[in-house]
Amino acid sequence: MAIRKIRKIGDEILEHATKPVKFMTPRTSILIGDMLDTMYEAGGVGLAAPQVGVLKQVVVIDVTEEGNNPIVLINPEILELSGEQTGQEACLSVPGKSGVVTRANYAKVKAYDEHMKEIIVEGEDLLARALQHEIDHLSGILYVSKVEGDLVDTSQEMAE
Ligand code: ZN
Repeated sequence: MAIRKIRKIGDEILEHATKPVKFMTPRTSILIGDMLDTMYEAGGVGLAAPQVGVLKQVVVIDVTEEGNNPIVLINPEILELSGEQTGQEACLSVPGKSGVVTRANYAKVKAYDEHMKEIIVEGEDLLARALQHEIDHLSGILYVSKVEGDLVDTSQEMAE
């Protein structure tokens, strides 16, 4: 496994649509491992494949402080959103900044895991926020387009 370079805002690959993964290949398996390494190394709670320059529908998330509960989502699809939360959001592709974004407080997602087994992931609060933020990346959407008010400089307490 290896650390990959994280693409930064202004890199047009972050604005492209992504393709679904049809079946697991060694290449995609390596991508997933590298994305987990890269996310943990950068101290983020989530990473989407376009952020490492790959236009595939692959997301990794870990919202635990210990960094011991990785979630791998392939071809994720939001089934349900409810409630509302308004809070600070940040992104590894927008370093040193954060902004206020309103998201659903609950999200239920269907996806495939790294073995291409169908899974359902549901979460509230930070996990719900991370799910929505990362799935947005797969449509070429950055959170900065959803910020209420201005982006602010930050020491990056929470990065996705
Ligand atoms: Zn992000």
